[in-house]
Amino acid sequence: MGRRARVTMVALGAAALATTVACRRPAPGPNVIFITVDTLRADHLGVAGYGRDTSPTIDALAREGVWFPRCYTQSATTGASHASIFTAVLPPTHGVLSNHEQFPDRPSLFRTLRERGWVTAGFVSSVVVGRKFGVQHALDHFDDEATSVESNRPERGERVAADTLAAAGDWLAARADARPFFAWIHLIDPHGPYTAPLEPDRYVNDDKARFGARALAAGDSSWVFDAIPAYQLLGTARDPEYYVARYDAEIRYADDALGAFFARVRALGLWDRTLVVLTADHGETLADPDHHRYFSHGVIAYEEVSRVPLVIREPGGRDQLARVDATRPVMAIDVAPTVLDLVGLEAPSAFEGRSLLAGPRDEETPLVSLGAYGRDELEKRIGTQFSVRRGPWRYIMNSRDGSEELYDHRVDPAERRNVAATTAATRDELRATLGGVLAARAGAARPVDITPEHREKLRALGYVE
Ligand SMILES: [Zn+2]
Repeated sequence: MGRRARVTMVALGAAALATTVACRRPAPGPNVIFITVDTLRADHLGVAGYGRDTSPTIDALAREGVWFPRCYTQSATTGASHASIFTAVLPPTHGVLSNHEQFPDRPSLFRTLRERGWVTAGFVSSVVVGRKFGVQHALDHFDDEATSVESNRPERGERVAADTLAAAGDWLAARADARPFFAWIHLIDPHGPYTAPLEPDRYVNDDKARFGARALAAGDSSWVFDAIPAYQLLGTARDPEYYVARYDAEIRYADDALGAFFARVRALGLWDRTLVVLTADHGETLADPDHHRYFSHGVIAYEEVSRVPLVIREPGGRDQLARVDATRPVMAIDVAPTVLDLVGLEAPSAFEGRSLLAGPRDEETPLVSLGAYGRDELEKRIGTQFSVRRGPWRYIMNSRDGSEELYDHRVDPAERRNVAATTAATRDELRATLGGVLAARAGAARPVDITPEHREKLRALGYVE
């Protein structure tokens, strides 16, 4: 309502009319807390049936809300994936193909909420989504302070979950603004090396794995096949199960920190007025020898990297998601339009994702996941995987040598038996589907100048050689 209208109304002294108008005004909020946990694969959570107690907090959140067991990221690399999550379009459309480009200047979840009166904030834990990424321009408040460093490479600044969540909690506690808020919280902990600040060895030598059964070679760089990437090395440890246990301890550490943060949100009286979303930018390969890439993501599109957790928990008293079939496939680009729908806003027409409230995706929807690609040295060195998951199939194209992979999830959910050579019709169909999705988008990457300092940080993270 414009100022003139309000003055006129007061001048009329139309108290009854004013009451009617106030009732018609949409209720403020709800608030939104949107959590992305970097490198968190879905199948290592309790809610997904994992054998270790990695995620009591996320499991409880899922019980209070809805767990979507088949959510797929659109990129295996941090910058591109976050750009897709928040702008709800595929990487070729927004042009952020790797960690080298800036957050796109286009309609986004942030922008829509901001325009409609939400105060927007971001609290991130890695340089990859820090100021150099440019995402702060889309937000009212941005906090990318690094408060710790990687244990074996002190040049790598980052922030552990407890510190990032403390910053977010302090901001929430200090707010005097009556407007609803949107807070994006990015946690880096499961990203390697796996050095949880608390109890890093809590799962080492438990009864869930065969510790000591084999040993891997130590990679001489971060981009290696069949060996432990250099940036992941933990002392002299070479047992792949030790690394998996340490990865799981990172999840548990982040989960416990989230538990403390959620308790604080409740203590502030915000929980019942806040929508909570938890997802990940991508997963991680772990100890599967058939995939030849240990403890990696970025350019990989196997199920363990492409499938990400998704929990959406509505504020108290709301259950709009109750009518959604959560077992159907979801794309990461669907999350932003769903959030807007849940808070009563229309999604920008530029979004390629769709609200889950509008009905489930067809089982035949091509779920596209792209590795980082573009102007990287690693494009030449190890190549990139482009992938489509559709129905029971996963098709993968390897850019390095043009080789193809096809997996049938009905009999091979771990993607270990490549049937591309013997299932030619499906292979060709999915190749054409992937090509069609890419050809339909003529987005151009906008590389930023990478300073030597930034390049060093990216190298430390394992993103460039
Ligand atoms: Zn990431």
